[in-house]
Formats: sequence, C-alpha cells, structure tokens
Amino acid sequence: MKKFSMKPKVVFEAGSIKYLSTLKKGKAFVITDPFMIKAGFAAKILELLVSNEIEYTLFSDIKPDPPIETVSLGVEQMIKAAPDMLIALGGGSTIDAAKAILMFTQDLSKKSGVPYKRPKFIAIPTTSGTGSEVTSFSVITVNNQKVPLVHLDMLPDVAIIDADLVKTVPPQITADTAMDVLTHAFEAYVSKKASDYSDAMAEKAVKLVFAYIVRAYKNGNDIEARERLHNASCLAGMAFNNAMLGINHSIAHAMGGVFHIPHGRANAILMPHVIAYNANLESETDTVTAARYAELAKILGLPTRSVREGVLSLICAVKILLAETNTPMTLKDLGISKDDFIQKVDALADAALADKCTDTNPRKPNKEEIVKIIMS
Ligand code: NAD
Repeated sequence: MKKFSMKPKVVFEAGSIKYLSTLKKGKAFVITDPFMIKAGFAAKILELLVSNEIEYTLFSDIKPDPPIETVSLGVEQMIKAAPDMLIALGGGSTIDAAKAILMFTQDLSKKSGVPYKRPKFIAIPTTSGTGSEVTSFSVITVNNQKVPLVHLDMLPDVAIIDADLVKTVPPQITADTAMDVLTHAFEAYVSKKASDYSDAMAEKAVKLVFAYIVRAYKNGNDIEARERLHNASCLAGMAFNNAMLGINHSIAHAMGGVFHIPHGRANAILMPHVIAYNANLESETDTVTAARYAELAKILGLPTRSVREGVLSLICAVKILLAETNTPMTLKDLGISKDDFIQKVDALADAALADKCTDTNPRKPNKEEIVKIIMS
C-alpha cells in the first residue's frame, strides 16, 4: 500500500519566526552553529523564548557534515537539560544533528530506564536546500563516511520557513543548496516510489528552482526569490520524504564523506550524468524514466518534440543553471586531483551501492556503471 505523510506543521513567510512567541512556558534545548550566534539569529530566537518565560540551554557546536562526536556531546547535554521543546536553528547539518541527538537521547533514556518525554521538535532551516525540516532522515559523519539515519521519531513537529533567515546565505552556498533542492525533486519524481502526491510537490519545486535560483544567487536580498526558494526546498523535502531518492544522492554521500565537497555541489556535478544514465539514452526505445524526465522538461517549457529531445533539453537546462551560478562542473574545478580520485573510486562506488538511496533509483546500477558515472 502506498502512503504519503504530511506530518510537520509548516509555518511560512518572511518573519514567521514569530511563531515561537505562541509557545507555552517550559524548557527549550536550542541547537545551532557558530555562524548563527555570530550573525545574531540565535539571539533573536532566544529573545522570543525569554519573552515567553521559556528557559533555554544552548548547544552551538554544530559543524558542517556533523560528526558523530558532536552528536554524542549534544546527547549528554540534552539529557542534562531534559527539555520540553527542541529547537534546531541552522542549515541541514544543524537540523540533522538535532535529529540524531533527539533519537539517541530517546534510545539511551529508554535503555537506562530514565523517564523520558519526547520534546516538541521545531526545525528552523537557514539554508534553502536539504528539506530536513520535513523529513525523517538525518545524515551524520562517522569515520569520514556519511551515514544516513531514518526514523519516524526524528520527523520535526513544526517547520518554520522564514525567508528572512536565508538572506545572509552567500551566493555560492545559495546555488549549491538550490541544486540540492533540484536533485531532491528530480530524484523523487523518477523514484520507484513516486506517486501523484509526491509528483505534485516535486513538480512545483522544480518550477520554483528554475524560476528563482539565479535571482537569489545574484541578489541575496531579493526577498521574493528567497521566499520561493525556501518554499521549494520544503516542498522537495516533502516529496522525497515520501518517494525517497536515488543514486545521485548515494554517490554524493560517498563523495561528501571522503572529499568534503558541499553536499549540493556534489549533487549538482553528478546530476547531468545521472539523468543520462537513468534515462538510458543508449537504448533504442524510450524508457519509462526517460519519459518522466521529458515530462519535467515539458513542465519547464523546454523543447520536447520527442522523449529523447526532452531528456537532452533537461540536461542542457541544468548545465545552463550551473554555468549561470558559476557552479564548478568537474572535479578538477573542485581542486580534487585525478590521481587521488582514481585511488578512491572503487571505495566510493562500493559506498554508493550500499547506500539506502540506491534502492529506489529507477534503474538498478552495477558497480561498473557507478564507476563510469563518477569518472564522467
Ligand atoms: P550546512 O548546514 O552544512 O551549512 C553550510 C554552511 O552554511 C555552514 O558553514 C553554515 O554555517 C552556513 N550557513 C547556514 N545558514 C546560513 C545563513 N543563513 N547565512 C549564512 N551562512 C549560513 O549546509 P546544508 O546544505 O543546509 O546542509 C548540508 C547537510 O545536510 C549535509 O550533511 C547533507 O548530507 C545533509 N542533508 C540532509 C538531508 C536530510 O533529509 N536530512 C537531505 C540533504 C542533505
């Protein structure tokens, strides 16, 4: 039986952070990163809490690609804090770390018989990329390997989509994270688990990214572009939380763990090659997946006189977006040496094949095919 879950309540529009002033008295555990402290965003949140007589404990040690060691530190502090609410303020790394901290705190409390009440979980994304605020996934790093965790208990209760918090995202991170959104939407759309429900979210997210990425990249203060990209990120999150992802993400996870390439950028570099592989352009007959990509091309108003033309025009449109946002398109552009890469390609392919996202890819790859995509 197929299903589509819509659990987190989503509040959105610039300024929607004021939702926090509707919270009742209690204790909050606030997880964030050093940038949020420096930029004054954390202070804004804490002010709203204090004005509502909410006590708080602040944990602001989150690093990109959150390592398991940071999660362990967070668990220790959360157990001490015993909060009624957990607030994650930051990019995907912060929200993912908060999810892992929540899950491990719960596990540990249950195992040791300590009384535990799940805190209300509020996620406030400050990048428009991962959609983590509406998913039950978390990606943490263990020994240089990105490990995806999946558990329904990690799904936030409330997501606050406030575009005022993304105006400071620098142009290149704006582009990288928006390409992550596009990858989520594309992969959800062609996934084995796609449905009418996830398609609706994915199609809208694709349209919004194409319409607003360049505007937000060129002018961070373009609040309309910021709002629409922030919504796109959340919609794509809802799509892939239900339809799951594919090998674009499996390979990006593997590469991110080893080379520490920003997640969205790794996805972006791989995207044209993964579309070509999934659509199986070498086949003489049009595949179902090729037709799905062509549908997306049609939605975007690209040339689609044939399925093949649709797929090729979609690939071309992606490459134009990469060029317009100055996103590196090759490993050399990222400063990774070919020798280093060749040495690691075997392990990367193994990690990608073992990644959960590979299960829902529309075409089942073998190791040789994964190596070919990575090397292309
Ligand atoms: P991030 O959270 O790692 O942040 C990247 C950088 O941007 C950091 O230095 C951060 O301080 C900075 N930043 C964040 N908000 C900012 C703002 N408003 N202004 C200026 N700088 C800001 O980046 P991300 O792309 O949001 O998250 C990537 C992580 O999320 C990866 O670990 C990836 O694997 C994971 N991920 C998770 C999911 C999921 O479903 N849980 C999906 C995709 C990716």
